[in-house]
Amino acid sequence: MTLKDYQKKRDFRASPEPKGKEKPAKGEPRKFVVQKHQATQLHYDFRLELDGVLKSWAVPKGPSMDPSVKRLAVQVEDHPIEYADFEGVIPKGEYGGGTVMVWDTGTWRQNGDAREGLQKGSLKFELNGKKLKGGWALVHMKGRGEKNWLLIKENDPYADRKGDVLEKYPDSALSGWSLQEITEKAQNERTAG
Ligand code: MN
Repeated sequence: MTLKDYQKKRDFRASPEPKGKEKPAKGEPRKFVVQKHQATQLHYDFRLELDGVLKSWAVPKGPSMDPSVKRLAVQVEDHPIEYADFEGVIPKGEYGGGTVMVWDTGTWRQNGDAREGLQKGSLKFELNGKKLKGGWALVHMKGRGEKNWLLIKENDPYADRKGDVLEKYPDSALSGWSLQEITEKAQNERTAG
């Protein structure tokens, strides 16, 4: 696993994102993060720590607690572990330009072998976040391009068929701020600096 693709796409003199480096693989519990990203299109980035990097998927509609809802999750380049704490503004014109919020954060545990699951296209896991909890699955969509997966909530006591977790908890799990507040804070810091 490598961060080469991640680093190639970004100019770290222009973007406050961490350059990062690969870390030695470590055991459980591992980190997960969901970042709400107001780029050209609002989307959510779902990241699971594995083998010293964050395996990453862009989820256009964000996660749902309803097990009957399957959300498209497009696998993107591995991100550095440090990215899990990144909340701020990527300047316009840079790769992924826009505001990034740590929408949820916590630990995850694999059910079964995570590396094998990734390779075979079926990853089952438990999330222990501030917002997302319980069993989840990432399932590869066969024959629909190699990057397309589905993110699905398992049926368990944490499942919720009525509420929308994205609307219920719109703000940062790290700072409590809204996208607007994160954006304004970055602008103020730029002016002050
Ligand atoms: Mn993104």
